[in-house]
Amino acid sequence: MSMGKLAGRVAIVTGGGNGLGAECARVLAEHGASVAVADVDGDAANRVAESISAQGRSAFGYRTDVSSEEDVKAMIAQVREKFGRIDVLHNNAAVLNADQRQRDRDLVNLDMEAFDRAMAVNLRGAVLCTKYAIPVMLEQGKGSVIFATSGLGMQGDMSLTGYATSKAALMMLPRLVASQYGKKGIRGNAVQIGLAPQHEMPAPLLEIMRDNHCTAELGTPRQIADVVAFLASDESSFVTGTTLVADGGFSSHTPSLVAM
Ligand code: ADP
Repeated sequence: MSMGKLAGRVAIVTGGGNGLGAECARVLAEHGASVAVADVDGDAANRVAESISAQGRSAFGYRTDVSSEEDVKAMIAQVREKFGRIDVLHNNAAVLNADQRQRDRDLVNLDMEAFDRAMAVNLRGAVLCTKYAIPVMLEQGKGSVIFATSGLGMQGDMSLTGYATSKAALMMLPRLVASQYGKKGIRGNAVQIGLAPQHEMPAPLLEIMRDNHCTAELGTPRQIADVVAFLASDESSFVTGTTLVADGGFSSHTPSLVAM
């Protein structure tokens, strides 16, 4: 029997096959949760689930395209069947795409297909997973739904129009979950990240990033996953409808214009 602040809980992490999502899946499992790793890349989801299982913890992979209602319905039903309950849904799946950066640019040059895909995965996907997970949580009278938002949904950007728009819209979701289902024991919150901490960055960009963080170091995936684990657990039982910003102060800080 696992001990920890998520012992006995069941958590779904979408987009859990890679990057931040994979780290969140690992950390939730470390705190005792059984984790359903759902990703459109089924092999990646299985690899993460197997590596968690190899540590003596409980995880299972699901090939799920979160933008597909059929996929989401089936995944939620399978998780419930396998684990018996759903306590935590972390809506992490997203597309940003380096190649999309070339196509989904400023408004005038916007590639509508890329825009639609970003909205379908990042926004519609989170809405669909929430729509189908909440009825299971309502039966339990308890649940925590988490959304992955971004500083790019707060401040304008030269490109990534679809990503930024979808992340801005996503900021409404924790508030809706909190308002609509709070009395029934379900909490909704978001974790807002800055530049995804695990991504390789060119040296000049890295320097600008370092200059504009309030912390001594840039973030790590673990630091984001720790916030997700907090929002998932009873440690945050009075926190709902809000966004916890975990970006090392990047979005709270005015860039220094005068060299010191
Ligand atoms: P980051 O870690 O910066 O958030 P990654 O690209 O490493 O970004 O991770 C995003 C994850 O989301 C990937 O594992 C990817 O396969 C997954 N993903 C992308 N689109 C979908 C989708 N439609 N349904 C489910 N998962 C998706």
